[in-house]
Amino acid sequence: GMDPLSQPTADSASWQGEPGHGRLLTLENVTKAFSGKDGTMTQILHPTNLTIAHGERIAIVGPSGSGKSTLLSLLGTLDMPTSGTLRYNGDDVTAMGERQRSDLRAARIGFVFQQFHLIASVSALENVMVGLQYTTLPRAERRDRATAALEQVGLGHRLRHRPSQLSGGEQQRVAIARALVKRPDIIFADEPTGALDTDTGHTILDLLFAAADSGASLVVVTHDPNVAARFPRRLHIRDGVVREIAGETTREGDGHA
Ligand code: ADP
Ligand code: MG
Repeated sequence: GMDPLSQPTADSASWQGEPGHGRLLTLENVTKAFSGKDGTMTQILHPTNLTIAHGERIAIVGPSGSGKSTLLSLLGTLDMPTSGTLRYNGDDVTAMGERQRSDLRAARIGFVFQQFHLIASVSALENVMVGLQYTTLPRAERRDRATAALEQVGLGHRLRHRPSQLSGGEQQRVAIARALVKRPDIIFADEPTGALDTDTGHTILDLLFAAADSGASLVVVTHDPNVAARFPRRLHIRDGVVREIAGETTREGDGHA
């Protein structure tokens, strides 16, 4: 059938239709295939066209194994498409070398994971300073910015704590501060509330939304319908096919006026 993602809705046309303005990321006929044990290739992501605007908030939902994490890795430039083009601010990422791509990622893109992915042996502050490793800023400046980022997520009183001395929700806040400290263009979060209780999960989502309020785009994979419901735009994946979930929600407050 017709791929709905190739057919911008009237709602999205207003920002998709302005060349060079508003678009942060675009996928053009992007596919992903992996080779199995017997050497045959399996198509994990079918040809996908997608535009993500500056400041946009998107939830990705779908069953386990449907390709959510694969799509997130492609969007986050962690993995390369098998075919098609990924553009970042208009630049063709698929034509970049490994080094250029990792520099782009380090400087402009934040990641948050279900299991937090913090360094166990160092403090919250040092974990957040990792987010500025790519910079040439002096250590004192990196420390000040990391402190401010931790204060921003309500952890100004936990700077010296190690991850094991923090609750799950606090560890995820450290991970968010690590993403925020670089003032990213976009934050990708793969099941960021999956290891947390419901209330803590909504607090984490509040913090991610606050980041989007200051201009970052936000893409969150979730299996929780209550989390997805908070997003103005939702994508559904099934067997590697991505569809927009037609929403009755508005685009108000989605930050790309
Ligand atoms: P989801 O995040 O929706 O649970 P994934 O994107 O992790 O799904 O995986 C989608 C499909 O792609 C699964 O069938 C998975 O086994 C397969 N897959 C993911 N990564 C690889 C890989 N590196 N090599 C081979 N198959 C993979
Ligand atoms: Mg996954």
